[in-house]
Amino acid sequence: MPLGTIAIVGRPNVGKSTLFNRIVGGQRAIVHDDPGVTRDRQFGRSDWAGRDFWVIDTGGWTIAEDAVSRGVRTQVETAVESADVILFVVDTQEGIHPGDADVAEMLRPSSKRVIVTANKADDLAEDISHVAFHELGFEKLQPVSAATGKGSGDLLDAVVSLLPELSSKDQPDSIDIAVVGRPNVGKSSVVNRLLGEERLIVAPEAGTTRDAIDSPIRYHDRTFNFIDTAGLRKRSKVASDIEFYSRVRTERALHRADVCVLIADATQGMEKQDLQVAEHAWECGCGLIVGVNKWDLIRDKDSVATARFKKQIVERVPFFEGVPFVFISALTGQRIRRILDLILSVTAEREKRVATREVNRVLRELVQKNQPPQKPGKSVNLLYGSQIAVAPPTFALVSNRPDVIPESYLRYLIRGFRREWGFAGSPLRVRLQRKRSRR
Ligand code: GDP
Ligand code: GDP
Repeated sequence: MPLGTIAIVGRPNVGKSTLFNRIVGGQRAIVHDDPGVTRDRQFGRSDWAGRDFWVIDTGGWTIAEDAVSRGVRTQVETAVESADVILFVVDTQEGIHPGDADVAEMLRPSSKRVIVTANKADDLAEDISHVAFHELGFEKLQPVSAATGKGSGDLLDAVVSLLPELSSKDQPDSIDIAVVGRPNVGKSSVVNRLLGEERLIVAPEAGTTRDAIDSPIRYHDRTFNFIDTAGLRKRSKVASDIEFYSRVRTERALHRADVCVLIADATQGMEKQDLQVAEHAWECGCGLIVGVNKWDLIRDKDSVATARFKKQIVERVPFFEGVPFVFISALTGQRIRRILDLILSVTAEREKRVATREVNRVLRELVQKNQPPQKPGKSVNLLYGSQIAVAPPTFALVSNRPDVIPESYLRYLIRGFRREWGFAGSPLRVRLQRKRSRR
């Protein structure tokens, strides 16, 4: 399900980051530490009235001509372009400031999506000085005090009313796919190949320039939905911006995806950042496939080379063992279709269900071979289990003392489950539950 995105913009010091913190609260935010810019930019997730959305905070907009201000302006423009709702923050206590007029001019073409957010309205209800901001010429205006939280509920109501309609849940047979990886590894080239060339570079129609554009194809009776392909098209000249938006896009896509295709560059190998993305995809419950692209540039490419490439990665991050790797070239088209087949097989593994009787047979064998470590007190037993969910497969195991069973023992069980049932390319979760005592 596509999530909406909200951008917070305005001149310096009007309370943008205070408002960001008010909306996103204690939730996890990506902080972008950009030395060329006055302060960190932040990106996080929030929800209101049952709707989830992303929030991007931006640097203070000014028309100054120094390098830092220019850098900030590029950032803000990118954020505005990719947002469904723009909170144009102004300072009620100062009244209309010349800097506000500059921001207003920049936002004019997007005015339908703008809510003038009259911040620092700390004495709301009695004090109505925010009405002065109607002069900026935007239809929607909300007073708020980011510092105290006053008015923030009304602001979020207004935000939610501007978010795009939720598409009635994507077709039941559809697979949402996130193609992710560092800048320049060839993501757009791969997606272009998969979609049959050129569909990505087509200029977006007016009004569809948002990030949340997906490209579907049909394959073997299923709909493959490539998430946020427009986010791949976006090009910025500022290196730190490319990096930031690549992370923003990845974060958004992984939360929606069923399968993550991580693209790496064969000539560079996998870097720490790639491994982090893979781990994050795993935590989000996505199936995972690694596409090692630009394989055309590798000279000695026999089966030994591919095995060596994978082995080096598995040595660093063991969970890659069960993850399918495919060595591709977006340039020549080599093995590109294989990605579609792997998406199908990983999806099947991720949706697989194991009968309870079978779960208990394997569990008994594993426990017999290797008992859970014992602790002082009553003996620690694993009694029975069952698969309680698919996509990703999740098992609940019942124990008399779940709290003393260590992670390492759970990993042993997971390895055993995988040996029996595969689940290749899919995360696999095990939860411990306490046996309810009879009365
Ligand atoms: P930004 O530069 O737009 O991100 O602004 P900040 O969030 O850093 O806030 C600038 C200043 O305004 C800080 O001193 C905040 O404490 C203050 N501020 C932010 N929101 C409010 C508010 O609702 N009421 C009052 N009185 N001060 C606020
Ligand atoms: P993205 O930033 O990850 O979307 O990467 P692009 O798809 O824009 O590709 C970055 C650069 O790598 C471009 O110059 C592509 O032409 C080049 N490239 C992409 N795939 C391949 C490949 O398989 N082989 C070679 N040799 N170059 C490639």
